Amino acid sequence: MNAYIEKVLNGLKERYPDQKEFLQAAEEILPSLEGAVEANPLIERDNILERFVEPDRIIKFRVAWVDDQGKVQVNRGYRIQANNAIGPYKGGLRFHKSVNESVLKFLALEQILKNSLTGLPMGGGKGGSNFDPHGKSDGEVMRFCQAFMQELYRHVGPDIDVPAGDIGVGAREVGYLYGEYKRLTGRYEGVLTGKGLSFGGSLIRTQATGYGLCYFAAKALEVMRGDSFKGKKVLVSGSGNVAIFAAEKVTQLGGTVIAMSDSSGYVYDPKGIDLDLVKEIKLNRRGRISEYVEVRKEAKFEQGCAGIWKLKCDIALPCATQNELDGEAAKALIANGVIGCFEGANMPCTPEAQKLFIEKGVIYSPGKASNAGGVAVSGLEMSQNSLRLSWSAEEVDERLKGIMEGIFANCYATSEELGEKGNLLLGANAYGFKKVAEAMIAQGVY
Ligand code: NDP
Repeated sequence: MNAYIEKVLNGLKERYPDQKEFLQAAEEILPSLEGAVEANPLIERDNILERFVEPDRIIKFRVAWVDDQGKVQVNRGYRIQANNAIGPYKGGLRFHKSVNESVLKFLALEQILKNSLTGLPMGGGKGGSNFDPHGKSDGEVMRFCQAFMQELYRHVGPDIDVPAGDIGVGAREVGYLYGEYKRLTGRYEGVLTGKGLSFGGSLIRTQATGYGLCYFAAKALEVMRGDSFKGKKVLVSGSGNVAIFAAEKVTQLGGTVIAMSDSSGYVYDPKGIDLDLVKEIKLNRRGRISEYVEVRKEAKFEQGCAGIWKLKCDIALPCATQNELDGEAAKALIANGVIGCFEGANMPCTPEAQKLFIEKGVIYSPGKASNAGGVAVSGLEMSQNSLRLSWSAEEVDERLKGIMEGIFANCYATSEELGEKGNLLLGANAYGFKKVAEAMIAQGVY
């Protein structure tokens, strides 16, 4: 490994020994920047890598709110403003009990590269809370969101930092957050994306990450294998926003989704998942995926999430959460003849799984490239808000497809330039970093 990169990585390990997700992301990204560091001496001279991995600022705050029993509950809130070299900070908010500084720092670091890959002017950020929305009433979620925004509003703005949704934050939460921002500031402006259509949201934003994932995967299958989704059996983990709309697009492109999951287990329906039923259970009722087999008697529910990867399939789309697909799972998929693994979630494959896919010639795309459709359409939502216009669904979908195919082309071409044709992980990291590094060098030391 290049000595400068090694020095930066060792520094991170010394400073943040307990931040395992953050270190995992840094250990994946930094070694693939060797070509960039060697080609441009200014990166080392200006300590660009140290500044790239160290967020501009981390905002941490207490969120106190009142539950339905009248008791005061306390959570921790965060906003990580990682890098704004190429545009205002941009990245989702995650509400999940596992949220901590390490998880958000990994997500924010990935977001810098992802946003750069879209070609739109957006810097990287991420935020959230260890608030667990499971089992909370609408009123409790609203009071939590209001309390969260009572601190966050000081740090965000349409030209400063524009949050969006992520795990546990969908249209309902974005609506409550937006309402509170408006109340506190008196300003009606595009401070959040993923908004409802009646107050400045973009058509196709809800579907964007899942659809974009499939546009990317379809292009990769075509260019790298002369193949397509047609007739393929597909596993989709998760049953949230990303998973559901990935499954929808897979079906439209001629594939069959045979299994989906949530944090309690997975359902296997060999004839093809009934997506309307999944939407009814997970989106409308906020229920459990296990309820699926109460209606579809021929399907099976198995407890535990990891088992889904043991099912025989052609294509795997991990769309749930980080480190959900490990080395064992990758071995099972490869033994069963998988041809592609395209990440819908952020960092769902462990380093061992990534390595196995790349070594064995399975097409593997990292989330920062293949799930960039969500933030890309968020970028388009920002444009529409600035223009005070709304584009048609067809127009947004067409732009999304173009952006995803462009991301694939850039990652693929970069992997070839760096002598590892088809290594999309290397291509994504190196291509995404290039623009950010150039902007940081041009803007001087800050
Ligand atoms: P949601 O909250 O809508 O859905 C998350 C889904 O994953 C739920 O079905 C949840 O189950 C399930 N899940 C959570 N943990 C596990 C686990 N260990 N095993 C199996 N399933 C699990 O989130 P999103 O769909 O928005 O996000 C999913 C992933 O995609 C995240 O990594 C996110 O960062 C990433 N992403 C999201 C984008 C977006 O636009 N929303 C954009 C880019 C990336 P349960 O219902 O039981 O909680």
